[in-house]
Amino acid sequence: MVTNDETLFEKVVNLSKRRGFIFQSAEIYGGFRSTYDYGPIGVQLLRNVKDQWWRTMVQLRQDVVGLDASILSPPAIWEASGHLTNFSDPLVDCKECGARHREDKLEDLTTCPSCGKTGSLTEAREFNLMFKTQAGPVVDTSAEVYLRPETAQGMFINFANVLNTSRKKPPFGIAQIGKSFRNEITPGNFVFRTREFEQMEMEYFVPPAEADEWYRYWCKERHNWYLDLGIPDSKLRLQEHAEDELSHYSAATADIEFLFPWGWDELEGIANRTDFDLKQHSEASGSRLEYHDANNDERYTPYVIEPAAGATRAAMAFLMAAYDEEEVNDDIRTVLRLDPRIAPYKIAVLPLSKKPELIEPSQEVLGLLQPHWMCDYDQTQAIGRRYRRQDEIGTPYCVTIDFDTLDDQAVTVRERDTMTQDRIPIVGLVEYLSERLNL
Ligand code: ATP
Repeated sequence: MVTNDETLFEKVVNLSKRRGFIFQSAEIYGGFRSTYDYGPIGVQLLRNVKDQWWRTMVQLRQDVVGLDASILSPPAIWEASGHLTNFSDPLVDCKECGARHREDKLEDLTTCPSCGKTGSLTEAREFNLMFKTQAGPVVDTSAEVYLRPETAQGMFINFANVLNTSRKKPPFGIAQIGKSFRNEITPGNFVFRTREFEQMEMEYFVPPAEADEWYRYWCKERHNWYLDLGIPDSKLRLQEHAEDELSHYSAATADIEFLFPWGWDELEGIANRTDFDLKQHSEASGSRLEYHDANNDERYTPYVIEPAAGATRAAMAFLMAAYDEEEVNDDIRTVLRLDPRIAPYKIAVLPLSKKPELIEPSQEVLGLLQPHWMCDYDQTQAIGRRYRRQDEIGTPYCVTIDFDTLDDQAVTVRERDTMTQDRIPIVGLVEYLSERLNL
């Protein structure tokens, strides 16, 4: 078993690169700090995390609809939301070595953690985290735009559009998955904190009197989502923010934290954002962002409960939680015990040998399975090494076609965690795997 320490971090980072989960971006140019590219295996993992979120938050509910708002956004949005003034972190410089740090993340305010010098840190100054760029060919201030630092505002500014077109009424939610950008002072810990990342956010609009009840409901729901997808209870906790830690818009906030190799850290925040955002945008835009209850002719500005998760950060937590090593026949087997719903490939189809008589039935088996599940196909190397490779990327089932298959029209199905093998007739294969994979 792997202990939850620095070696786990190194091991997951190495595995990510070696097996094609996550690569440093622009590696052939020496690497571009704090940006990462998701390889053939990683893109599947990330997609599965997002699909599972969408399934739980949108597909299986009647009260939540989706949205995909733009990333480029005019200053007016960020002026009204308070981001232009408030979306900053306290930055301190080291006069000795030039390193920059976030003051709120420093354990000792007197000493630079990079060079160890005491008394070298400057006073903190607020550093705005938004990326600014220009839209259009004329470089003047009227063309200034921002890359969104959160997806949330897209939901607020479309509140009336969604209300008018979806026939929803509070309590109801708008969900969105997409990229956000923050000019983080200290990106790091692999994909935990990057300047470009993906978020999964939902704004749940409720009658103000029900806000507290829904806040508790979403804290519980979101905590359960990670548990259900296989993160052990011992590595998850819900931490309520103290009043002096709350953001400018929030009446209550809790973080779902994961036990990363460096300690407990945030996976997702759930906030009661009150009516702050809708009121700010109503005032700034002149559009009425309210709900009109026709039953009693009452108008009110809903309160908002927001579960805000990071897709890329969650993918990393799933990897960390799933990583395991065990001794098998005097050898160490590395296995990602990912929930099958998150696993990049559900099945690997492996002909025992490259002989043409096995390739043809293997291709047929692959063709049988591909419409149902994401499958890998691998005909190189010894079968034992191919099993190990699939274990390392978390593939729950390997289907092996051997010479007996030609006679008995059956294949060997090997399960990842127990390594047990079953002989299954090809005609019953889809049913056998459906019982195990369609959770
Ligand atoms: P922090 O205090 O760590 O900077 P935050 O509390 O500002 O984060 P939120 O604004 O609540 O973060 O964002 C919601 C979620 O988006 C976070 O819980 C995290 O999963 C994800 N997230 C935020 N910033 C980043 C980042 N720079 N890289 C990767 N994921 C991020």
